[in-house]
Amino acid sequence: MTDILSLFPGEIEELIVSIGEKRFRASQVFSWLYKGVKSFSDMSNIPKELIAKLSESAQIKSISIEEKFVSQIDGTVKYLYRLDDGEMIETVFMRYKHGNTICLSTQAGCKMGCDFCASTINGFRRNLLPSEMLLQIMCCERDLAEKVSNIVLMGIGEPLDNYDNVVRFLRLVNNEKGLNIGMRHISLSTCGIADKIDRLAQENLPITLSVSLHASDQKKREEIMPVARKWSLEQLLASCRQYIKKTGRRISFEYALISGVNDSGEEADRLGKLLSGMLCHVNLIPVNPVKEKSFKKSEKSSIEVFTRTIEKYRISVTVRRRLGSDINASCGQLRANHSS
Ligand code: SAH
Repeated sequence: MTDILSLFPGEIEELIVSIGEKRFRASQVFSWLYKGVKSFSDMSNIPKELIAKLSESAQIKSISIEEKFVSQIDGTVKYLYRLDDGEMIETVFMRYKHGNTICLSTQAGCKMGCDFCASTINGFRRNLLPSEMLLQIMCCERDLAEKVSNIVLMGIGEPLDNYDNVVRFLRLVNNEKGLNIGMRHISLSTCGIADKIDRLAQENLPITLSVSLHASDQKKREEIMPVARKWSLEQLLASCRQYIKKTGRRISFEYALISGVNDSGEEADRLGKLLSGMLCHVNLIPVNPVKEKSFKKSEKSSIEVFTRTIEKYRISVTVRRRLGSDINASCGQLRANHSS
């Protein structure tokens, strides 16, 4: 069965022509899909015969809300969604001054194994389809009767480990007749799969790339992020420099500050040296505690010293504001609790 919501308009056209129907029906079908219909029979201006043929060869994926949490502090909403095969994923909706932002999952589970991350606790289950990334947005917009204007691929999973589906999703979500979300309003975060960063640089997608660094030397990075054993810090930064050169776009480096692990003044100084002169921004994130793990977030004073040290290298740096802290908005714990 073809997953029709993962198709581009031209591919829907091919499908419709291949089952012996008229080409112009494709744009009708495409717009119905984005109105959130659950079955072909809900497409009221499509002839019964075409509906029957489509139902035989294609399916419309769906997603349902298993649980929903609304922050009493800032209105952030967190969804635990159930996919058609029973897999669970998390999606977070945040209201910022610059617009409504959604944080999407790209995989059910994750195989990257970062030490401090809850998404990795029960291992990897499967890649999400482009349709399942679109549905996270459509279901949330419908539930809240609000539009999403910005997307961050920072939920469960490693986007560049699901490369083809993620890039297809980016092009679909950008389609004028679809959700029409501008590439410049989309950020993709990676733990640092260098060869995929090289590939992404060639795609001509003006999104923002975020790179999760979390350490300023190879040894420490290997200790907390297994991916560093495959792609060294040196290789990663070389790919980042290439990416900036090719796309002309600033990279955002994420650094989770973990007390006593990666938050010393010396490490800040090394980070400053490493990134000095690069077209980049550094996002410091006081680490969110994860129940299964024992690390703690850095003290306020260490965060301040860390920030000031990096600023000395004329690098722009911010400490991330935490939304939805009362609903555990920023980690993969809901899913972990559910599947354990
Ligand atoms: N796999 C991608 C995207 C998902 S995670 C990546 O690694 O970038 C989004 C960001 O949250 C990453 O920077 C990740 O390292 C960070 N993160 C994971 N667990 C965290 C925690 N407990 N506290 C703070 N940040 C965390």
